[in-house]
Amino acid sequence: MNNNPYAWIQESLTTIHRADWYRSVQTINSLPGATVLLSGQKVINFASNDYLGLAADESLKTSAIQAIQQFGTGSTGSRLLSGHRELHRELEQAIASTKQTEDAVVFSSGYLANIGTITALIGKRDLILSDQYNHSSLKNGAVLSGATIIEYPHCDIAALTAKLQQQRQKYRRCLIITDSVFSMDGDLCPLPELLDLAEEFSCMLLIDEAHATGVMGKTGAGCVEHFDCTGRELIQIGTLSKALGSLGGYVAGSHTLIDFLRNRAPSWIYTTALSPADTAAALAAIKIVQQEPERRQQLWANVDYLKQLIKENLPNLKILPTESPILCFPLPDAATALTAGKHLREAGIFAPAIRPPTVPTSRMRITMMTTHEKRHIEKLVAVLKSMQV
Ligand SMILES: *Cc1c(COP(=O)(O)O)cnc(C)c1O
Repeated sequence: MNNNPYAWIQESLTTIHRADWYRSVQTINSLPGATVLLSGQKVINFASNDYLGLAADESLKTSAIQAIQQFGTGSTGSRLLSGHRELHRELEQAIASTKQTEDAVVFSSGYLANIGTITALIGKRDLILSDQYNHSSLKNGAVLSGATIIEYPHCDIAALTAKLQQQRQKYRRCLIITDSVFSMDGDLCPLPELLDLAEEFSCMLLIDEAHATGVMGKTGAGCVEHFDCTGRELIQIGTLSKALGSLGGYVAGSHTLIDFLRNRAPSWIYTTALSPADTAAALAAIKIVQQEPERRQQLWANVDYLKQLIKENLPNLKILPTESPILCFPLPDAATALTAGKHLREAGIFAPAIRPPTVPTSRMRITMMTTHEKRHIEKLVAVLKSMQV
């Protein structure tokens, strides 16, 4: 054997290039916001998950700085050892209060919250039913759990019911997992129907509110509130790193669930606690979400304005079905997506081309922010029109 055992890595990269799937980072050298400096060029930002514009908010920045002054930069250990601060508990109580659940627990990221929760709740003798368009963290959490995984067609309640009828009784526990707002499409899971099915077939239901927290529902509590399902028993996961402008993840649910996770979720027990700055910033963000509904109203007004302009100016432009501030325009292939992304960028618009393997089909993905001004939205539509996408 004289083969270089690492040679395959270069070959694999070459294949990635050939398929137009290659990715690399882009540098933003400014505060996050509706406009940013992207490698030195001022662009209008439609690529961010900072829906409410909180990542550069004065109140979040001040809270983070104060927390650093008081508690330092690192939390120095896991929550069960030296990492726990009163700030973590305050944040967890604020999340539980927004979600109207008995309790909540914060993880160091949304990804870790999903992985830790799924692996704690489900094992080899169990079944997971997973929407085919679920986020990577749900899919990998499912794989890591060792359970049997069945993917059901996107939001297809009839197909899910059929799978449950065929399979449910063969397994001990069953967990249904789904994004609530689908991150790369912008549509919503059929939550009331999922809750009914979960009850009928004695399944747990876990929804990922990453793109819904702070955005959906009258008080920004997420899709559970949007669908008027507050108070029904389920497992709600979310992130502090999108509309809440910080970093970290959470799980909200019953006392029993949260207490169990603190004892059994490996990605909570064996990782360093959220930093004081991230914790304080997220706490400040939750207060803003609760106290300033006008931020959410402005976000939805911006979404409506973009949809109206598209209807008037680009009647033939296809948009994937959406009920969130995420709007996607389907494109025929990865090469077209890359060209479109480049064209937008040259015209001063930052909107990413999302390609496989992140999604099954290529698309342009636009996310709206509270802090977009009318002229930003008008410019986007003018550029799209010039491209005749
Ligand atoms: C972003 C995202 C996550 C991961 O959250 P992080 O806090 O960024 O790790 C999980 N699920 C969905 C649906 C997401 O969009």
